[in-house]
Amino acid sequence: MDSLFDVAEGGEDREERLAELARQVSVCTKCDLASTRTNTVFGSGDPYSPLMLVGEGPGENEDATGLPFVGRAGKLLDDILAAVNLTRDDVYLTNVVKCRATIEENGRVRNRQPRTAEINACNPYLRAQIEAIKPDIILCLGGPAAKTIIDRDFRITRDRGRWYEAFGAKAMATFHPAYVLRQHGDELKQTKRLVWKDIQAVHAEYLKAIEARRA
Ligand code: SF4
Repeated sequence: MDSLFDVAEGGEDREERLAELARQVSVCTKCDLASTRTNTVFGSGDPYSPLMLVGEGPGENEDATGLPFVGRAGKLLDDILAAVNLTRDDVYLTNVVKCRATIEENGRVRNRQPRTAEINACNPYLRAQIEAIKPDIILCLGGPAAKTIIDRDFRITRDRGRWYEAFGAKAMATFHPAYVLRQHGDELKQTKRLVWKDIQAVHAEYLKAIEARRA
């Protein structure tokens, strides 16, 4: 792994730990989502990044590929990161649950929010990822991630864009890219403006963290 930080941070242990966790997740049957998944979606990106992004869970495209944030929401996430000159290779991406949550409606299989029991069952994997990666900054994408990481009473419209402390990191939440894509007209403009503001604040902390690690 080509990283600024691998020597100083004991790189091999971190990668081995994450590889072992990914292996455990790939065969996990701790909740009902195991029975309907195609692939588990563990995480991707730079495990040495100071910045970890945590979304809700895999959707259809992620379930099909085994990768987080693909499809339209993934493209928008790429655009959000590009606005502050970052790519998904500069950060670590994961979700609160590692398997797709679905519901069948009118003969169609649709995504749904993961249930509390599913989030709780999967939480040890997320915690272990955070402990392995030791991010300086965690950006929660959407309410379920913020409720899991920051505060269970978190309300995304009220509490996004502020800094909190979680797992020894500075934590903020913003809207999930999939939520942004569901907005229209003025709502869309306003939601995008807020997300862009949040990512600027996160990027400022990211630069500080990079400097601090180099010092
Ligand atoms: Fe296991 Fe998490 Fe998948 Fe549930 S969502 S089966 S706890 S990996």
